[in-house]
Amino acid sequence: MDSKTIMDLTGQYILNTYGRFPVAIDHGQGARLYSPEGREYIDFTSGIGVSCLGYGNADWIQAISAQAAKLGHASNLFYTEPAARLAQILCERTGMSGVFFANGGGEANEGMIKLARKYSFDKYGAGRATIITLENSFHGRTITTLKATGQEVFHNYFFPFTEGFRYAKANDLASLEAQSGDDVCAVMVELVQGEGGVLPLDPDYVQAVVKLCRERDWLVLVDEVQTGVGRTGSLFAFQHYGILPDVCSFAKGIAGGLPMSGIMTNEKCRGVFTPGTHATTFGANPVCAAAGLAVQEALSDEFLQQVQEKGAYLREQIEALNLPCFGQTRGLGLMVGITVQEGWTNKDIAARLIENGLLVLTAGPGMRLLPPLAITKEEMDQGVAIMKKTLGA
Ligand SMILES: *Cc1c(COP(=O)(O)O)cnc(C)c1O
Repeated sequence: MDSKTIMDLTGQYILNTYGRFPVAIDHGQGARLYSPEGREYIDFTSGIGVSCLGYGNADWIQAISAQAAKLGHASNLFYTEPAARLAQILCERTGMSGVFFANGGGEANEGMIKLARKYSFDKYGAGRATIITLENSFHGRTITTLKATGQEVFHNYFFPFTEGFRYAKANDLASLEAQSGDDVCAVMVELVQGEGGVLPLDPDYVQAVVKLCRERDWLVLVDEVQTGVGRTGSLFAFQHYGILPDVCSFAKGIAGGLPMSGIMTNEKCRGVFTPGTHATTFGANPVCAAAGLAVQEALSDEFLQQVQEKGAYLREQIEALNLPCFGQTRGLGLMVGITVQEGWTNKDIAARLIENGLLVLTAGPGMRLLPPLAITKEEMDQGVAIMKKTLGA
């Protein structure tokens, strides 16, 4: 099917909820994607931080194919090996104690919110259910996670929203204190705000938040949906910050392109959910878990070190272009933000780059790059060359 037919069919039969770029994608190899007509794109998006191994990774394909041939789904009424092994690896590599598998980031965050509220209810009874989140955060699109998101634009249309969220300014301990109270059970943060604009939290602030939470028995909830699974150059961003959350969520990159998510708890919180209190039909799907195992296999400590080096290299190359539309870069690992200068808009810049063969993302008022973690130097150079050609003075 050609690109135009795909776009027409989509327009006619798929609900119009996304502002799409006029590109149809048919297949990929490495960090390169191709339209049905064979037009090549360098991919600095990895499907919004999902396809961490790039496209066509032989081990990932083999793991999925073999598991699909063996068993595609069994439900959580029974035991399956791939999810058990994946949970073991995630705990052993992070110091966490237990995993619950789900399917998407918003759903994982819902589970994290439920867990925090049940922890507090079990210990203190009703009336201590409020979760403080940060301004400019993004936690998902369900009715509850929209309300957890600290941006007013998301609190529209879908009333009534779930109660029990208050918002504090990022990197401002006094603002957090101002939101505290007897009704609080947890603080929830992204360590690098993703959708909000690739904004890393200050390490000192994060340490202070954890200390405050420990003093008041508020749970520390870290949304690692975007930052997790190697994106920042450590398996989880909380490892960079030297903290162990009570609960963290993960999703996007966990299975390298198949839908999977989950939450991990520390030892203190592993018993909060009991049989019947939380569940999801597709959770721990064996094919997704097998893909997750292939991802973990690829993400060795050496590979993660390379993610940091590649991130630094990519930022240097972009800054060296001195493009009139770009200011400074920021980020951690291969989660890169670029400031867009006044007089330019990130949406226009993205559209022009995509038209010229480089897929990029926006976040907040700036640009956001989330290339496959397995991207090569040559692929990065080709992407940067497209930036220069498209945006150079
Ligand atoms: C993408 C994202 C989500 C939502 O994940 P979905 O899989 O789209 O539900 C939640 N939190 C953060 C930090 C994200 O980046």
